Amino acid sequence: MGRAGQRRTIVQKYGGTSVGSVERVERVADRIAETVRNGHRVAVVVSAMGHSTDALVDLAKQIMPIPVPRELDALLATGEQVSAALLAMALCKRGMHGVSLTGWQVPLLTDEVHGAAHIDRIVGHRIETLLEAGDVPVLCGFQGIASGDVTTLGRGGSDTTAVALAAHLRADVCEIYTDVRGVFTTDPRVVSDARKLPCVLYDEMLELAGLGAQVLHPRAVEVAKHFGVPLVVKSTFESDGGTEIVSEIEDDGSRIEGRESVTGIAFLRDVAKVVVVSLPLEKHGLAVIFGALASERINVDVIVQSVVTESDIDLSFTVQEDDALRTLNLVQYLQDRLGFRDVVLETGLGKVSIVGAGMISNPGVAAEMFGYLADASIPIRMVSTSEIKVSCIIAADLVDTAVQALHASFFTAIETAL
Ligand code: ADP
Ligand code: ASP
Ligand code: MG
Repeated sequence: MGRAGQRRTIVQKYGGTSVGSVERVERVADRIAETVRNGHRVAVVVSAMGHSTDALVDLAKQIMPIPVPRELDALLATGEQVSAALLAMALCKRGMHGVSLTGWQVPLLTDEVHGAAHIDRIVGHRIETLLEAGDVPVLCGFQGIASGDVTTLGRGGSDTTAVALAAHLRADVCEIYTDVRGVFTTDPRVVSDARKLPCVLYDEMLELAGLGAQVLHPRAVEVAKHFGVPLVVKSTFESDGGTEIVSEIEDDGSRIEGRESVTGIAFLRDVAKVVVVSLPLEKHGLAVIFGALASERINVDVIVQSVVTESDIDLSFTVQEDDALRTLNLVQYLQDRLGFRDVVLETGLGKVSIVGAGMISNPGVAAEMFGYLADASIPIRMVSTSEIKVSCIIAADLVDTAVQALHASFFTAIETAL
């Protein structure tokens, strides 16, 4: 039994790097075995090994640059099948009954949006039955089934499988094991002295994940918040308490005024901007354009409209670079109907964002951010804000410099002052 003598239900998710080789699969099996030996019920979710999903995407693109979505999902889902089966074998070798399960074997039902499917529900009790029998189910992350077809949840989606499974099992905790010790003030690959955060609010994590902090899939945070799943991000390789995602942070008096205004910095390097030139107001172009993009599940981000004449506007908005060509095609298709003069696509952009619940009561933070970027000679192309974040669109090749400058200003300066 566990330390408190209590039998807990734990969902453990292991990411690509954590199962990137046979040796690493064996180490993960050791960790699972230890948790099981401590008397807990463990359900596992795995990602594909290392960068194997990228390799599969490359293969598909050699056949067609924009692969048929149904077939791309069928292909990508194979990656997780490899790691799940290997891990189940490694568990069997250790005397446990590891049972790998694909999305359709569970079954885990999703909607029909290939490449960005949302989980609908987990049907039946196959996993509970295995756990009751003392077995260890090992689910393929990232995949599901819709009307008999394989779907995938979007890159990084195994986190969401794990959280959905934890919600389904009413697990005591969902542990996301990865290649860093937890959630940091920013990506430690870009800022080597980024600090690990002991806890982060669900709302902050939602923003950070949505704005590019790869460490958790945005949908995973959304589902965890909705179902109140206790979520923790930990290292597979180092022993560390990790980062807890929580609904409130107790103030023990040790937090310093101003320190909490920015919790983290996130960034994206693959932003594209679309400008629709001279869009006549009377045709309700915004509703038509964004309606068309929404029906294709293209995520529109920063939107700016500027008045050209009394009857015309210029409309600028950003999308992910991966969606840029589809977006351009869709908007061009609407040109006759809406009567705008031109549509222009610009790629090579990025986005840096600061996030923190403390910003609500700290209106000067945006101005500080703009000032720090100006000091680093980084031109700001577009801005968007919410109560707890400020995002700036900048040139993609300036993203690293911007993140380093902002981190040094918002975090290192505070530490020096302590
Ligand atoms: P996994 O394969 O385990 O799912 P990911 O590569 O998806 O791992 O996510 C972990 C990576 O996220 C880290 O290696 C790190 O480079 C990156 N990352 C980006 N932002 C952050 C952040 N704020 N805190 C921690 N890691 C971050
Ligand atoms: N294997 C998938 C990817 O690389 C899903 C995941 O890792 O979460 O995006
Ligand atoms: Mg991931």
